[in-house]
Amino acid sequence: MSRGGEVSSLVSVTDQLAVLQEETDALIAVYDPGDRLRYANRAFRSAYFIEDDETPLWRDIMRRNHSAQRGTMIETRDIEVWLASVTSRRGKVASRTIESNLYDGRWLWIVETVRTDGWMMFVGSDITELRRSERTIRQECDRARKASVTDDLTGVSNRRHVIAALDALLERADDRGAEPFTLCLLDLDRFKSVNDIFGHPAGDLVLVSFAQLMRSGIRLKDHFGRVGGEEFLLILPETDAGAARGIIEGVLDEVRRSRPLLAHPDFTYTCSGGLATSRLGDNAQSIYARADQALYCAKREGRNRIVER
Ligand code: GH3
Ligand code: MG
Ligand code: MG
Repeated sequence: MSRGGEVSSLVSVTDQLAVLQEETDALIAVYDPGDRLRYANRAFRSAYFIEDDETPLWRDIMRRNHSAQRGTMIETRDIEVWLASVTSRRGKVASRTIESNLYDGRWLWIVETVRTDGWMMFVGSDITELRRSERTIRQECDRARKASVTDDLTGVSNRRHVIAALDALLERADDRGAEPFTLCLLDLDRFKSVNDIFGHPAGDLVLVSFAQLMRSGIRLKDHFGRVGGEEFLLILPETDAGAARGIIEGVLDEVRRSRPLLAHPDFTYTCSGGLATSRLGDNAQSIYARADQALYCAKREGRNRIVER
């Protein structure tokens, strides 16, 4: 290539750059050492409402856009206070990045590059979509975390979650002076016949109704979860057997009075419970086994009752 050819291709690259700067969706601007806007491409002018050939001061751009509720989203009671605070950080380091949102809903990732003589270049990219997918991932994570501790049918804690609460309480119970807690294993009476007579979906409605009655009848600090088909576990922290019995009998009265099947307004059901209060040296198996034995006794003694072990 001849010398002349090299020069002409250099010129055309500069021209191309100028054209591309106008066309790109990236926001590009240059401020002089006095913080006056000296160059702004199309995308920048449109985002910050700058007229062609206008060279306003940065703070005037901010003031007028703030009063017109456009451009940068600025949450402040006093724009002058905001300007003072931003100015104390602006143009102080060679390079910094800022995440900023605009009144029009866009999020920008901004890179400011400052030379030692004070000239500054601003390059902003639209990251709205990125923020959206970040938010979606966060929401999905929350949903997954919730699902991993929740029983699908009834919405109360699942087995894993309520057993984890039991383990945590047992860990604390090792401390000297820790208040005893009470465990109650609850099992619906003759539930198989509910399914047999009214059908499985009706059985599901009864389970949902039972879980809701229990959840609203116990205290916030109590843990309650579904540990099997029609078996539930209630844990009452810092509660002895007598107090626990008082609370549970109250809820079971409501269960007896409830009419969970709208299509069968005469249908009622009952539930049996096995109580066990924590002892020194208990582990999850030992206390659960006592509650299970107590439940077995409640069933054998005729159901619809709470037995203590
Ligand atoms: P008992 O008083 O001795 O507890 O009698 P039972 O009939 O409740 O006990 P059994 O263990 O024989 O039967 C439990 C029934 O619970 C059997 C099963 O069909 C039903 N079941 C388990 N999970 C579900 C469920 O998710 N939905 C419905 N509808 N039924 C369920
Ligand atoms: Mg059962
Ligand atoms: Mg049962």
